[in-house]
Amino acid sequence: MIYLDHASTTSLDPRVLEAMYPYLTSTYGNASSVHAAGRRARGAIEEARETVASIIGAESSEIIFTSSGTEADALAIQGFMRCGGALLTSAVEHEAVLRPAERLHREGRAVILKPDDRGAVSPALVDEALSGRENVGLVSLMSANNEIGTLTDIPGVAAVCKQRGVTLHTDAVQTLGLHVFDVEALGVDMATGSAHKFYGPKGAGFLYVRGGTPIEPLIEGSQERKRRGGTENVAAIVGLAAALELAHREREARLSLASSLRTHLLSALAPLIREGAILVTPEEPSRAVPHVVNIAFPPIDGHPIDGEMLILNMDMEGVAVSAGSACTSGALEPSHVLLAAGYDRATSSAAVRFSTGTSTTAGEIDTAVQILTKVIERMRRLALL
Ligand code: PLP
Repeated sequence: MIYLDHASTTSLDPRVLEAMYPYLTSTYGNASSVHAAGRRARGAIEEARETVASIIGAESSEIIFTSSGTEADALAIQGFMRCGGALLTSAVEHEAVLRPAERLHREGRAVILKPDDRGAVSPALVDEALSGRENVGLVSLMSANNEIGTLTDIPGVAAVCKQRGVTLHTDAVQTLGLHVFDVEALGVDMATGSAHKFYGPKGAGFLYVRGGTPIEPLIEGSQERKRRGGTENVAAIVGLAAALELAHREREARLSLASSLRTHLLSALAPLIREGAILVTPEEPSRAVPHVVNIAFPPIDGHPIDGEMLILNMDMEGVAVSAGSACTSGALEPSHVLLAAGYDRATSSAAVRFSTGTSTTAGEIDTAVQILTKVIERMRRLALL
């Protein structure tokens, strides 16, 4: 199989598994227990917290471990909004942010911004939206979009938020592990990470919360300084920290591989684009994460491409790609990101996201694009019958 779906999830790095192994087997104490077995588990969690904090430039008391990126987003949005005020976010956020935002919108407590045609929300747009809306207490914008890779100018948005005294949360799930991520340099107050996007285990995430930021727990209990109840998943937490540390150490190499694969992929896709396919991802490397490229197929002579059939056909030929975010593929809904960026429903339903990883080769990309070309030709031919 040619796996080009790393933005959905990555494989567990064997070195991460090795770090986790003792906590899945011999070291099984409950971190809340006072005996030696419990203290060993507690020690591992606190060490992991220190590791994560030091890599992102935070204090260890500012890291809350969660069961996923989704839970960390929920804690940031819902935990903060329980303290009152309104939320400002965008229509291209991951559903972990968008769903609570839509609920708050129905209650008259959220503004959901439309992005530009590349799915970007600029600091100027945030500034304009905040003016005259004194009730907004929280801005939440993703660092990079998971479907099309577009980067948000987070330092620019942070400057606007700071000037207006508004708290800023960023869902950094698609940038953490690949880009340098320093909460001070970025100026964010809260940030979400998820281990399985950087070769860590699934079911492990964290929320950075700057000291003094008011958030209420969603799950009450004594753990995580009473901010997230539930017996800690020690192995998953250890795995998250080990994976982030490896990503930090190997960042240059991972980034340069991803960038060169992107260049290769864009040139391999050029013939399809000349024939009418749309490169949804911004072409300028500075505007997008290097590991995500999204290409959409608008209808030709009124004949749309069925996006789900396209992905399934590629799968039958041995290529794993996504139509958009993994959470929405499987349903026949068009991509909410492409719709928000202004594409019509048919085009928004016929997009392919390639996302590369540390194991991807240029040869795999060539084969995958050849297969995509063949599948598209076949589907177009069948549509004319
Ligand atoms: N945010 C973004 C941008 C994502 O891409 C994802 C995963 O697809 C999530 C949040 C959710 O993370 P998790 O899978 O850990 O719940």
